[in-house]
Amino acid sequence: MHPDIPIAKTSSPLAQPPWCGLGKKLESSLRKAVYTYDMLHGVDKLAVALSGGKDSLSLLYMLKAVSGRGMPPFELVAINVAGEFTCGAGVGQKFLESVCASLNVPLITCESHRTLETLECYGCSRERRSLLFAAAKEAGCTTIAFGHHSDDNAQTLLMNLFHKGEFAGLLPKIKMVDYGVTIIRPLILTEEQLIKEFAKTYGFSRITCQCPVGQTSKRKKTDDLIKDIEEHFPHARTNLSQAALLYGSQKANHAGGSMAAANGSSTST
Ligand code: SF4
Repeated sequence: MHPDIPIAKTSSPLAQPPWCGLGKKLESSLRKAVYTYDMLHGVDKLAVALSGGKDSLSLLYMLKAVSGRGMPPFELVAINVAGEFTCGAGVGQKFLESVCASLNVPLITCESHRTLETLECYGCSRERRSLLFAAAKEAGCTTIAFGHHSDDNAQTLLMNLFHKGEFAGLLPKIKMVDYGVTIIRPLILTEEQLIKEFAKTYGFSRITCQCPVGQTSKRKKTDDLIKDIEEHFPHARTNLSQAALLYGSQKANHAGGSMAAANGSSTST
């Protein structure tokens, strides 16, 4: 662990039904995405990419909560990519172990060996995904869930537009033919603010990305830009993510199976 990165406390918060209002809202938004995009059809064992941040933890808690409740039960496996410089490096390993133990979900840990000298978001996220895909397949999972939400989709849409002139957002479900896995994004209809409030209420809101690159990344700058636009157009963020879902998947579908499509092109997600 990098000396400048604080280790989170190891106490284990448990978020499970019966939910408060926030939990009900979040579960309903996850169910809507799962049904709309047929995410769990035929899935009996599902891997969850677990950085330990609010998004991936909310996803894990919610998937655990809905399994067998109004849908067929499925087994869960959490996969974490550890390393001195990863997006979840601010979260202690013991914390993740205790969360997974409390949910009775096995935790697999893979190691990234990135150093400060080789750090940049595109390569970093490609490496992380390769590690996650390999670990998921080894664990017998051909579907892997990521915690991307609708704000990620809005940012990705703008980044792809500005970088490459492509109107392409994050796909809710994409078959990675080259890698033999399917990615699903059950939080794609959920606003980040709801996840933030849910995480705060259930006590697992932690600052995870302490990476020096993350503080100045294009994604962060794009988010700042959307905040500026919202001053004049209050619904801009929602409209961008909706447009990404409605019109932004054609290009990504054509790139199906490539790492760029999974990443939403050059994004750090
Ligand atoms: S912010 Fe970018 S470079 Fe830093 S850990 Fe996350 S993906 Fe990697």
